[in-house]
Amino acid sequence: MIVTRNLYKTYQLGGVKVEALRGVSLDIMPGEFVAIMGASGSGKSTLMHVLGLLDRPDSGEYSLAGENVTTLSDKELALVRNQLVGFVFQQFHLLPRMSALENAELPLIYAGKRHLKQRAEKEMTEVGLKDRMFHKPNQLSGGQQQRVAIARSLVNEPSVIFADEPTGNLDTKSKEEIIAILKELNKKGKTIVIVTHENEIASHAKRIITMRDGQIISDKTVSCESRLSEAGFSGTENLVKDILSRSGSAVKGGMEFLDYLRQAISAMFSHKMRAFLSILGILIGVAAVIAMLAIGTGAKESIEKQLASLGSNLLVVRAGASKSGGVSLEAGTTTRFTLEDVTVIEKLKDYVKRVSPSVTGRAQIVYGNKNWNTQVQGVGVSYAQLRSSVPTVGRFFTEEEVKKRDKVALVGTTVAKEIFGNIKSVGKTIKINQINFRVIGVLPAKGTSGPQDQDDTVLIPITTSMYRLLGKQYIDSIYVEVKNADSTDAAQEAISALIIKQHRLITKDQQDSFSIFNMSDIKSTLTSTTDTMSLLLGAIAAISLLVGGIGIMNIMLVSVTERTREIGLRKAIGANNKDILVQFLIEAVLMSFIGGLAGIALGSGVSVLITLIAKWSVRVSLSSVLLATVFSLVVGVVFGLWPAKQASRLNPIEALRYE
Ligand code: ADP
Ligand code: MG
Repeated sequence: MIVTRNLYKTYQLGGVKVEALRGVSLDIMPGEFVAIMGASGSGKSTLMHVLGLLDRPDSGEYSLAGENVTTLSDKELALVRNQLVGFVFQQFHLLPRMSALENAELPLIYAGKRHLKQRAEKEMTEVGLKDRMFHKPNQLSGGQQQRVAIARSLVNEPSVIFADEPTGNLDTKSKEEIIAILKELNKKGKTIVIVTHENEIASHAKRIITMRDGQIISDKTVSCESRLSEAGFSGTENLVKDILSRSGSAVKGGMEFLDYLRQAISAMFSHKMRAFLSILGILIGVAAVIAMLAIGTGAKESIEKQLASLGSNLLVVRAGASKSGGVSLEAGTTTRFTLEDVTVIEKLKDYVKRVSPSVTGRAQIVYGNKNWNTQVQGVGVSYAQLRSSVPTVGRFFTEEEVKKRDKVALVGTTVAKEIFGNIKSVGKTIKINQINFRVIGVLPAKGTSGPQDQDDTVLIPITTSMYRLLGKQYIDSIYVEVKNADSTDAAQEAISALIIKQHRLITKDQQDSFSIFNMSDIKSTLTSTTDTMSLLLGAIAAISLLVGGIGIMNIMLVSVTERTREIGLRKAIGANNKDILVQFLIEAVLMSFIGGLAGIALGSGVSVLITLIAKWSVRVSLSSVLLATVFSLVVGVVFGLWPAKQASRLNPIEALRYE
C-alpha cells in the first residue's frame, strides 16, 4: 500500500537547518494497523504529512497504492487526498460555523458527490453521533469532536486512514472510544497509520514503528494477523490510477456552486458588521452611478425635448459675438438691434416666414396681497405662432396693441397659479413693477427644462416692454422662423448679409459683433455640454465604486488571513486550488452583488426623490441599471481575485499550523 525509500525533509528555521526526516524507508501492506511512536520532535508528524500527501518530501521516493505520487501535480494530489486518504488531526480541525454533519459532509463536496449526503449520516451513526449531528463543534465534547473528524475522514471511503495523535487531547474514556472505532475500521479492511505517545494505545496496533531524529530505529510486528490477510487486499495497485482517470470524466455539478454560495452567506452572517460595511461601500458607489447617470440622462432628454419643440427652422439673432472666449472685441463693437432691423428682416420674404423681437427682464408682479417675482418678456405678435405660445385661455395681443404700447399681458401657468390661485385670471388687472396691466390670456403650459420653469413668465407687447416697463432702447434678440427647414443655412447667410449692409459693418471685428444661432448649433452645443456633464458625474460615481471595491478587497484579505486554518483544513480533505479560489471569489462577488442590487434600489429611489422634490426631470435608464449591475459584479471579481488567489496558494500544512 505504502512504499517509501529514503525520504528526506529539511526545515529552514532562521539560519538553522532542522532535518525532520533523514532517509525514511518504509513498507506498509494493505490492511495493516501501524502505530508510529517516538519522542516529541522525532519527525512523526512530518512523516505523516508526507504519507498523507499534505506535504512533499525534499527527496526520496513514495508510492501509494502502486503509483509514484511524488510526481503528481497539486491538483492531482488534492484529488488523491480526497478519495484515497483520510486524515485525523490531534486538534480535530472542525469548521466552527458548521454543524457536525456539515463538517462530515465537506469531503463529499470536493469529490463532487454532494448527492451522497446520506453517507455522512451513515458515518456519523457509525461513530455513535446519530443524535449530535446538528450540533455545532463547540457544543460537543473533545471525544465527540474527534469522532466527527473521523466520520469526515471516512465519507469518501478511503483505503488509508492517517491519525496524528488522535487521542492526544482526550480523556481516557474518549481515548478508548476512538481506538475502538479505529480498530473496527481496520477490521473492515482499512489500512490505519496512527501516531501516538502512549503505549496502551500502541498496544492495539499490530505493528509498532519507533522513530528518533528523523529516522526509523525499530519496526516490530506485534501480531502477524495483518500480514496473513494480505491476500484479501490485493486490488490496491491501481487505486490512484483509477482515481486520476475517473477525475477526467467526473464533472462537479452546479450543486457545488450552491455549497459555495451557502458557505459565503454563512461567512457573511458570522461577520455581519464587516460584511455590511463593505456592502455599504459598493452600495453607495452603485447608487451614485445610477443617480448621476439618471440626472445626466434626464437633463439631456429635457433639453432635447425643448429643442424639438422649438423646431429646427428657428434662427435667433443676438448682439455680440457667438464665441465667448477667443478674441476680445473693441469697445463699442457690439451691434445693437432696433425694431427697424426686425422690419428689414421681415422683408426677406424668400427665406423668412415670421419674425419676432424679444427683450427680457425681471419684474415684480402684484395682485391684491399676492407678490411674485418673475421673468417679463416683450415680444411681437408673431411670437404666438413662432414659439407655440398661442394662449389656451383668452387671446394674444394684436398689432394695434403693439403699436399703441398697450398695457396688456399674458401670464404663464405658474404665474397664474401663484398670483391668482384658482381664480380666473383673464380680465384681471395686475401691477407689473407698479404699472397696471390687464391680463388678456394664459399661456399654454410648457413644463420645466432642467431647473428652469418655462411657465414662470409673463408676455407683454415689445413696445410696451421697451418704452414703458424695462426702459430698453435695443432689442435683446430677434427670433426668425425660416420658411423651409432645408434652407436654414441660406437664410442665415441672407440675414447676416442684410445686417452687415444695414449696420455698415466693415471690419472683421464689426462683422463678428452679432451672431445668429440656428437650432442645430445650439442643439449640438447643449448635447455636448450635457454629455460632458454626464461623463463627469459618471466618473465621480465610478471613483466611489472603486473605493467600495477596495473596501471589499480589504475585507476579503482579512477574511483570508483569519480563515487560514479553515483553508488548510479544506485543502487537507481534498479541496484543490481552484475550489478555494472559487469559494473566496464567490464570497467577494456575493457582497458586491448585494451591494449592487441595494445600490440600484437606492439610486433609483434618490432619482425619484429628485424628480419629486427638485422637479428636475430625472431618468433612470435600463442601461444604467445593467451597467451598474455588471460593474458591481466586475468589482467583486477584480477585487476578490487577489485575496482569493492568496488563499488558494496556501500550503495545507502551513495553513493548518497558522495561528
Ligand atoms: P513530532 O511530530 O515527532 O513531534 P515533527 O515532525 O512535528 O515531530 O517535527 C520534526 C522536527 O521538525 C522538529 O524538530 C520540528 O521542530 C521541526 N519542524 C516541524 N515542522 C516545522 C516547520 N514548519 N518549520 C520548521 N521546523 C519544523
Ligand atoms: Mg507531531
